Amino acid sequence: MTASASPTVRTRFAPSPTGYLHIGGARTALFSWAFARHQHGSFILRVEDTDLERSTPESVQAILDGMRWLGMDYDEGPFYQMQRMARYREVIAQMLAQGSAYYCYASREELELMREAQRTTGLKPRYDGRWRPEPGKVLPSVPQGVQPVVRFKNPVGGHVVWNDLVKGTLRISNDELDDLIIARNDGTPTYNFCVVVDDSDMQITHVIRGDDHVNNTPRQINILKALGSTPPHYAHVPMILGEDGERLSKRHGAVSVLQYEQDGFLPEALLNYLARLGWAHGDAEIFSMAQFSDWFALDAISRSPAKFNLEKLLWLNQHYIQQAEPDRLTALVRPRLEAALGKLPQQPALIDVVLLLRDRANTLNELAQSAHLFYHYQLPDASTLAKHLDPAAVPALYNLMERFHSIVWDREAIHDAIKQCVTQFQLKMPKIAMPLRLIVTGATQTPSIDATLWLIGQSITLERLHQHLARVDPK
Ligand code: GLU
Repeated sequence: MTASASPTVRTRFAPSPTGYLHIGGARTALFSWAFARHQHGSFILRVEDTDLERSTPESVQAILDGMRWLGMDYDEGPFYQMQRMARYREVIAQMLAQGSAYYCYASREELELMREAQRTTGLKPRYDGRWRPEPGKVLPSVPQGVQPVVRFKNPVGGHVVWNDLVKGTLRISNDELDDLIIARNDGTPTYNFCVVVDDSDMQITHVIRGDDHVNNTPRQINILKALGSTPPHYAHVPMILGEDGERLSKRHGAVSVLQYEQDGFLPEALLNYLARLGWAHGDAEIFSMAQFSDWFALDAISRSPAKFNLEKLLWLNQHYIQQAEPDRLTALVRPRLEAALGKLPQQPALIDVVLLLRDRANTLNELAQSAHLFYHYQLPDASTLAKHLDPAAVPALYNLMERFHSIVWDREAIHDAIKQCVTQFQLKMPKIAMPLRLIVTGATQTPSIDATLWLIGQSITLERLHQHLARVDPK
């Protein structure tokens, strides 16, 4: 533990399960995770599922799956706000009893008229405090049969000031904040209130979240203070933008973490990429999660929004594909290939194919795609073959077949046989290699021809050569 580390740091990731786990959420989670790990503290997962209309069990699952896929382990949770309703009601009752909250019986229509009147006199529409108890104030009489909402008694005058660990000192006048509804008239607690109770009960020390929540912070701080709780530190992380400078959205392509898994990205590549999105450690670009949590500091988070750059993510993915354990890579490529081609034969061994192809692949899907030719032969059509097969090369290919018959089938011997044939017939390499490649693999582009033929195997290579040469030049 470093000298500055505090064993009591507690961070949380608090997603609303109203969609998939998106890139922005995952980055927020990652920063909260890294900060907790760096400080040897705890990282808590809390699912903010109180929006019954928009929350779905599928989204909860997508969040859990996304976290698991990325390997972001949490020390406590997942906690579900819907399971904490009794606690919120308890706190609301306490606040009512101690006078930091009050019932408001104003009807929707009444409030609408109030706002309308404010607008016409050039005032900012806000709750005017008509049901707010004050010493010496006479409140309206309670209307019959109206279920009241509960409002928080926001302090009047003064400012809410906090030192945001990313944005610096932020200051909001209390006059900007009206008395927030903390319980609806059916008794259900509202969003900001649940966040506050949870952050307080869960003893969160650092709230690291997207800066779309900056506006909630002064209200949350006021409620926390009313509860007698010390507000946590806040770090509001700037948004992620698409390459066009607009806020990252579906329009920019995949934004769901699990979509990246499907598209053939490795979790360590996405993590490494997300870590650098709005945070830097010198000029380090490629690093492990252990290094990241070692280096992570909130003051190194950029104050300006980061731009998503797919090229860079692909570059990192290619790097991690090259570094991955061959067995793991093979296990990741197999289902992608089998989804297209059905169960693979034993030969050639997929691990050999993967090792041959991995240096050229940006994604696992590309890797699987380029492996097709080893398991699914597509007869080259006559015109393509004619284009690449110079009649002058036909005798050379027959000669090569004979050589192939008699060699021990390994890369070096295949290479030598081709070279000797080229020399003997005084042809340029492509004159032989192109039709050979096309005939044996069905493709015009393959990895190195000797490695490709070696993997395809001696008998299949000979069989295909034989069939095709008989087609173009029946002997
Ligand atoms: N549930 C909120 C969201 O998904 C986050 C709230 C917070 O971090 O305070 O945007």
